[in-house]
Amino acid sequence: MSKTKDYNYTVTERFIRYVKIDTEADPKSTSFPSSMKQKDLAKILLDELLAMGVADAEMDEWGYVYATIPSNSKNENVPTICFCSHMDTAPDCSGKNVKPILHKNYTGAPITLPDDTTQIITTEKHPYLKEKIGDDIITASGHTLLGADDKAGVAIIMDFAHFIQKNPTVEHGKIRILFTPDEEVGRGVEHIDMKKLNADYGYTLDGGELGSIEDESFSADAVEVTIHGISAHPGYAKGKMKHAIKIASEFVDELPKDSWSPETTSGRQGFVHPTSFSGLLEKATVGFIIRDHETAKLKVYEDRLKEILDKVVAKYPGVSSEFKVKEQYRNMKEIIKTVPFVTDYAIEAMTRVGITPKPVIIRGGTDGSRLSFMGLPCPNLFTGEMGIHSRHEYVSVQDMQKAVNTMVELVGIWCEKSK
Ligand SMILES: [Zn+2]
Repeated sequence: MSKTKDYNYTVTERFIRYVKIDTEADPKSTSFPSSMKQKDLAKILLDELLAMGVADAEMDEWGYVYATIPSNSKNENVPTICFCSHMDTAPDCSGKNVKPILHKNYTGAPITLPDDTTQIITTEKHPYLKEKIGDDIITASGHTLLGADDKAGVAIIMDFAHFIQKNPTVEHGKIRILFTPDEEVGRGVEHIDMKKLNADYGYTLDGGELGSIEDESFSADAVEVTIHGISAHPGYAKGKMKHAIKIASEFVDELPKDSWSPETTSGRQGFVHPTSFSGLLEKATVGFIIRDHETAKLKVYEDRLKEILDKVVAKYPGVSSEFKVKEQYRNMKEIIKTVPFVTDYAIEAMTRVGITPKPVIIRGGTDGSRLSFMGLPCPNLFTGEMGIHSRHEYVSVQDMQKAVNTMVELVGIWCEKSK
């Protein structure tokens, strides 16, 4: 029988409160957290953890929230498990004055958002909603994103902590809770104190569809290409000027148009993707991101990109170029395959609560990719957050409850399996 049977979930009430707190990250900021308002939510989480009896909960100077639920298991071999989610929301869509709307017993009919009636959430645009008929769906009101990414994860972890505190007979090992700022601007792990965190394995709660589990991400590099042209007064430039902007444009135009790009690839196919372009007559710079699930392929892509560049530049004697590669993150599978049980236990937990596990390959990275390489193998579990980074963002109440349920089973499985 489910351990959470008869439990009055607090996840929905928490979620509705947390999304109203603006925690939009600022990609232009150099401070940490990138926007100080993220600490508003951190403080609330801190107070709520303390109020539920999680005595060592703390917020550090960077806005990270750390907390421990001590083990109640007689088994001393249970590893410390960390559950992690991010408090910030994506800057792609406003997170100010979010007005969550609860649509009880969703019928499958289009949902028109009242503050902007041109915003209509339909099952055609969001096929997953077809599976959610009969669920209670939460949306925003039309002007903002909802912030289910990742306040669904935050609310799920908080409700899980609440459940564990209220049900002292449910067995678990030592649990560490971590809430991070600035995941959406790629800086979420920048100031994590891994020593202080002191956990053996982790899970981020930042996935989408019910049952999804992600333990494989892209490997990622960035490349910066600089082209040095030859400047001359435009009135007297004949035969002298070599225009860096034009040469850089020619270089970008040489990239394949039917492959090797985000818009032409899916599944396990990698890509090379220009993300910035700036220049003057004398100097132009093109920024790229390079992605593939196989780390070794990044070098192959980079060599090919450099070949294309060299070929273009060679047409213009006197023009020179630079090609700088910067490692960004690596496929977390490289770490997790050495400890496959971390994923296996989560899959078993889902099976026990009656969910069909759906392993998903991420075409991106998560904080879990970085954490895995920082010593904390960290797959990503579902939260129900969907349509993220947009005004159509939504989440199913029942999906969030099932995530709480999965966590409760999961900590029990760690006790059973640790000998
Ligand atoms: Zn997220």
